[in-house]
Amino acid sequence: MLLSQQKTYDVCIVGSGAGGGMAASVLTRAGADVIVLEAGVPWDNTKDSAMLTWPYDTERRGASTRERPFGEFDACIGGWDIAGEPYTRAPGTRFDWWRARMVGGRTNHWGRISLRFGPRDFRHKSVDGLGDDWPISYDDVKPYYDRVDRLVGIFGSKEGLPNEPDGIFLPPPRPRCYELLVKQACDRLAMTCIPSRLSILTRPLNGRPACHYCGQCNRGCRSNSNFTSTNVLLAPALATGKLTLVTNAMAREVTLDKSGRVTGVAYVDKTDGSDRHARARVVVLAASACESARLLLNSKSSLFPNGLANSTGVAGKYLTDTTGTDMAGFIPRLADGVPHNEDGVGGMHLYMPWWLDNAKLDFPRGYHVEVWGGRDQPSAGFMGGIEDYPGGGGYGKDLKDMYRRYYGAVVGFSGRGEQIPSDDCYCEIDADTVDRWGIPVLRFHWKWSDHEVRQVKHMHETFQAVIHAMGGTPLWAMPGADEQYGIAAGGRIIHELGGTRMGDDPKTSVLNRWCQAHDVRNLFVTDGGPFVSQADKNPTWTILALAWRTSDYIASEMRKGRL
Ligand SMILES: Cc1cc2nc3c(=O)[nH]c(=O)nc-3n(C[C@H](O)[C@H](O)[C@H](O)COP(=O)(O)OP(=O)(O)OC[C@H]3O[C@@H](n4cnc5c(N)ncnc54)[C@H](O)[C@@H]3O)c2cc1C
Ligand code: SF4
Repeated sequence: MLLSQQKTYDVCIVGSGAGGGMAASVLTRAGADVIVLEAGVPWDNTKDSAMLTWPYDTERRGASTRERPFGEFDACIGGWDIAGEPYTRAPGTRFDWWRARMVGGRTNHWGRISLRFGPRDFRHKSVDGLGDDWPISYDDVKPYYDRVDRLVGIFGSKEGLPNEPDGIFLPPPRPRCYELLVKQACDRLAMTCIPSRLSILTRPLNGRPACHYCGQCNRGCRSNSNFTSTNVLLAPALATGKLTLVTNAMAREVTLDKSGRVTGVAYVDKTDGSDRHARARVVVLAASACESARLLLNSKSSLFPNGLANSTGVAGKYLTDTTGTDMAGFIPRLADGVPHNEDGVGGMHLYMPWWLDNAKLDFPRGYHVEVWGGRDQPSAGFMGGIEDYPGGGGYGKDLKDMYRRYYGAVVGFSGRGEQIPSDDCYCEIDADTVDRWGIPVLRFHWKWSDHEVRQVKHMHETFQAVIHAMGGTPLWAMPGADEQYGIAAGGRIIHELGGTRMGDDPKTSVLNRWCQAHDVRNLFVTDGGPFVSQADKNPTWTILALAWRTSDYIASEMRKGRL
């Protein structure tokens, strides 16, 4: 039996991560009565985080578990493999789908690398003829990036680079020792290397204290000095009294009346398995890019037999992820280092934005390089592979001496690049498989093109050049063409975008420029689904800015009585 709530909310939002949290924040401030349905459990970083737990406080020493693939202290409950929530892949293809199942979604762990897309990223087809242009430009989003900077807080430096827009920055932390060596090497190689841009407070902001540099952001910040949807967006929204947050609520389907207006969301109460319904005048999907596409595809009716807002069959199409590969190097100059505290923010203090001209290269789009290393707090798996270091390995005292010698002497690099959307990468409903609640699951199709594979080869060549310029040696060989140069499988970088892309032409897009469904006036999407393309930047700052822009539009349309 479907249990329907008596109340009709102004807005029902599905998902409480980056996109859902921002929509809840803006809409409650605008006076709307909002319900958020969140499939995951309650979790509050200011109370539940293991920020100050020592690895030796538990028998596992921080090793990973099924629901915490990044380690048992990690803030984010979820992973690529969730019990009772399968997905499938077309034969011969691989896409790994990472999902969070908690209030705040993936913002509980994310790396907080907070980069604006640049002007060229919104119109790349006009530059090189590939992919598609967005229906909006950087100038449309800029005011919202500015608002996100002011509300959430971000550190960085003004650089004036052409496609890496500066924001409203708090001061960046100083580079650590190994980062200074990376910077020297980059200067020699004429690579741009600048302070990173992370949404971590280096000064108090909006009632939140500054970071105390414990370096444990991925465990959740007890002092609330980094960004989570939970405590930067949802907590103030709850304080307005206008937000109802329902956890353990797994949305199954968006419901529709005969006139083609959505009427709310049917969901499963995971605590007892009952079917429930939340009624609302407007529905906002923010369940993450692929899950929002799944919800549309599963919402079939006589008006939309192929899925809601999918009259032209674009839902689920043009999925992308960031490309990625990694390399680490042993740097002899860092061996036998003087013991000192290299903590800082929980992330890199500098990075390399894309610095070359693709017109002169054999691949069309760029990448940025993230830097890691230093004297992090040791935990399970610490300095695995010590036997591969010069003279490494041994037993007893010799082994301990080796650990001391090489602790902090490895520097690593991760390339994160732009994939171009194609017909080869999409998701659809797998008619033969359902999850534990009987909801049909997604089947993924994925194929990297030569553009991405050649880009990843170039990443490896760059990593080697920097490691050699630092006087070091790569710790492993560059993967060959037979392994597609080590490109991570689709979904592994956890930046999936698209599936409900925006556009001016309803035949080739699901949403219009306000992230409103072309087919259904009172249906919106505010997660990564509306993205027309990736960029050589991480996506979440743009998810937040677009979610704010869409929510402003919803509030304004509601005021005018048009929704
Ligand atoms: C380890 C890691 C590192 C990352 N680092 C970065 C980074 O440095 N920079 C960056 O820009 N991005 C990063 N990301 C990506 C970033 O976290 C995501 O882009 C962002 O959180 C996406 O926001 P979202 O609102 O679309 O989805 P999410 O944050 O995933 O939120 C979706 C929410 O919807 C809920 N939900 C899903 N299905 C349903 C349903 N059917 N019914 C009800 N609720 C549902 C989920 O439980 C979840 O809480 C990282 C991600 C991870 C995991
Ligand atoms: S490094 Fe700073 S922001 Fe991160 S958990 Fe520690 S105090 Fe919080």
